[in-house]
Amino acid sequence: MRILNGIGASPGIAEAELTWLAQPDLSVTRVNGLDPAVEKERYSRAAAQAASELDTLYTRACETDAATAQVFEFHRMMLEDPDFCDGIVEALEQGSKAEWAVSHTAEGLSKIFSAMDGDEYMQARAADVQDVSRRLIRILKGIHDESTKFDHPVILAADDLLPSQTVRLDKKNVLGFVTKYGSSTSHSAILARTLGIPCIVSMEADFEQLIPGSTVAIDGSTGQVVVNPSKEVLAEFKARQTAHQADRLAMGLYKDRAAVTQAGHKVLVAANIGGLEDIDAVFSYGGDGVGLFRSEFIYLNRTDFPSEEAQFLIYKEVLERLAPRPVVVRTLDLGSDKQAPYFGIEGEENPAMGYRAIRICLKEPHILRTQIRALLRASVYGNLNVMFPMITQLRQVRGIKSLLAEIQHDLKAERIPFSQEVQYGIMIETPAAAIMSDVLAREVDFLSIGTNDLTQYTMAADRMNARIRDQFDPADPAVLRLVKLTAQNAHAAGIWVGVCGESAANTALTNFYMDIGIDELSVAPAAIPSVKRAVIESAPESANLLQIG
Ligand code: PEP
Ligand code: MG
Repeated sequence: MRILNGIGASPGIAEAELTWLAQPDLSVTRVNGLDPAVEKERYSRAAAQAASELDTLYTRACETDAATAQVFEFHRMMLEDPDFCDGIVEALEQGSKAEWAVSHTAEGLSKIFSAMDGDEYMQARAADVQDVSRRLIRILKGIHDESTKFDHPVILAADDLLPSQTVRLDKKNVLGFVTKYGSSTSHSAILARTLGIPCIVSMEADFEQLIPGSTVAIDGSTGQVVVNPSKEVLAEFKARQTAHQADRLAMGLYKDRAAVTQAGHKVLVAANIGGLEDIDAVFSYGGDGVGLFRSEFIYLNRTDFPSEEAQFLIYKEVLERLAPRPVVVRTLDLGSDKQAPYFGIEGEENPAMGYRAIRICLKEPHILRTQIRALLRASVYGNLNVMFPMITQLRQVRGIKSLLAEIQHDLKAERIPFSQEVQYGIMIETPAAAIMSDVLAREVDFLSIGTNDLTQYTMAADRMNARIRDQFDPADPAVLRLVKLTAQNAHAAGIWVGVCGESAANTALTNFYMDIGIDELSVAPAAIPSVKRAVIESAPESANLLQIG
């Protein structure tokens, strides 16, 4: 028996024979001096076939699973992406073989995505580019679609499972999968969660020790892979599986309940989302709304700033689909770990404390102006709240308010309707904002505490640095004191206060949050039922937490 560890990316337990995903030979060698006209013709036929395959996959997926459909839609867009196409055509014009032109261009693009250090989302997009490239090369080489059918239950191992391979998995016989690379935000992990099968990613160090044909037991929550498990371990995994299923069942009971404490305080349990693709999950986990739409994701997956119209359409759809539930859209939180080449932000010694978020938006107001115009135009389609990130000073809030007044004035002059009900709030995610929250609270309609950054800045512990993970503790009394101070100041000013950092989902803190009267907890969709349950069952006892240290 041997225990290997990766990152648990989709919860659940499975035990079966290990099988490696058979990969067709898609290797490509460089051949030059070919007739560009012939290779261009081969490429355009392959691109047309790829487009038609993706359209079929998209239509099929639309009927069953919107998240999957979105993957194919993204691949379809990639096929027509100007950077991708121009790179290929350039190589073809130099007499390269079409297979090489595709693979060379895809490699270049995916390297750019992968190099976005710390940006898991963009790194996951590298897998999408590779997926499109494999599809084109397979067609160019005349290889039929790869099959992932099995005649008995298996746990599948692969270097990386491309999104399109994940979708075509034989759902009856593939009980789970383990990959050498990948992250918990890669499409494959997202799809595994949608399919409800366990998935473990990032097995790098030990991966080669997974011998095909051996029996493995995997736990998609802990990231454990047990090779040739003993009887005792198998019994333990069976017990975990039973507990996991019971948990899911119990969670089903809570997801549609209102989160009301025994003292009668109603808490809105909302979802954190990054785009339209997450809305289905908000409904399936019983979210009372959206407490944090990280709008920067709209900006990251592109080569230029999104237009007012493009943003308007996205906000309109989010608001319409969630109406009458409230949706809090956070304005652009660029910089630090969220970068794209077109932002043109120069490298900084200390980006988390550098030119980011509201600091950029107030220096370059046209960016924020476009976003707020799009948001206000969309506001008539649902229940919109807007919040501003990384506030440290009162004058920033005043700056935002005067920009808002200007935009509202312009819209009125242009006779463009917008809702008067929109609430405007700020994030409390710096110690400065928490300490000044009495003053800031008088300026806005709500406060939302971003405990990820608040912990990072309070504890002086980089949230991305694994070596000091134990210093980055959102439950440290220093952080909790600031959270409590913020809640008291919000209520003294007569406004509501929420928590939208990851620790909103930490049910060990729910008693504390209830004790200080938090009005909204915004968490990853899958965490909604457990948070509702914790609120309903809460028994406040925060004093203990605050006295530590
Ligand atoms: C936070 O800082 O807690 C937060 C919610 O914002 P983000 O994680 O996107 O920085
Ligand atoms: Mg933050």
